[in-house]
Amino acid sequence: MLKVSHVRAFADNYIWLIHSPLDDRRVVAVDPGDAQPVEEAMANGLELAGILLTHRHADHVGGVAALSRERRIPVFGPAGEKVPEPAQPLREGDTARFPELGLEFKVLDVPGHTKGHIAYVGHGALFSGDTLFSAGCGRLFEGTPEQMTRSLAKLAALPDDTKVYCGHEYTVSNLKFALAVEPENEQSVEYLEECRERRTRGEATVPSTMRRERNVNPFLRCDRQSVKQAAEAKAGRRLQNHIEVFAVIREWKDGFTG
Ligand code: ZN
Ligand code: FE
Repeated sequence: MLKVSHVRAFADNYIWLIHSPLDDRRVVAVDPGDAQPVEEAMANGLELAGILLTHRHADHVGGVAALSRERRIPVFGPAGEKVPEPAQPLREGDTARFPELGLEFKVLDVPGHTKGHIAYVGHGALFSGDTLFSAGCGRLFEGTPEQMTRSLAKLAALPDDTKVYCGHEYTVSNLKFALAVEPENEQSVEYLEECRERRTRGEATVPSTMRRERNVNPFLRCDRQSVKQAAEAKAGRRLQNHIEVFAVIREWKDGFTG
């Protein structure tokens, strides 16, 4: 079982630290938007041995230059957009390999939030950046509803017990929206309760699992009658397919304040 810890950055970003199964102290950082919290963790006995980047936004790549300047470590990032210099470009079909750490991750192209966004899959874990959040998905800054729907479908095809490590702690507010769409979804009701308790204790709500996401995440449920009906009521018209449903609930979420 893969060991993953995290440090927090900014208001709600998670920088995941993937521990080498061969040497627990050596870690790969995912989306280090800020160097400082990562350096603090390294000062506490960890060794940064690699970096994975999902997309070019500053809150995900801002710490790369400082962290890689004095370390000779592999850095991997998306081929489809500009990320800081040492990053080796990856696209779907490629693998991010860290042979000395006993770690490797397959790359999926998941455009929508940004046009070159990629996700990493390996060792029973998904690092989804700002594409899939627990109970939500990223805003469409550069892609179309059709692209994002296809990207999310790729992720939703992963096995049930895949652990979902996303870029932000948004779960409670996402679940409030999920319940506006599907008020009858018992699993979302229970999960919201559980996540609120965890947040009160100062704990992370993530990782989630793909099983959980398929049950509570409205953006993965656009083919369900319940979600379709809610979207049609919101739009005031009939919707033809799950892409139109997705487009309506994504826009609804953009303006949703709880
Ligand atoms: Zn982003
Ligand atoms: Fe972000």
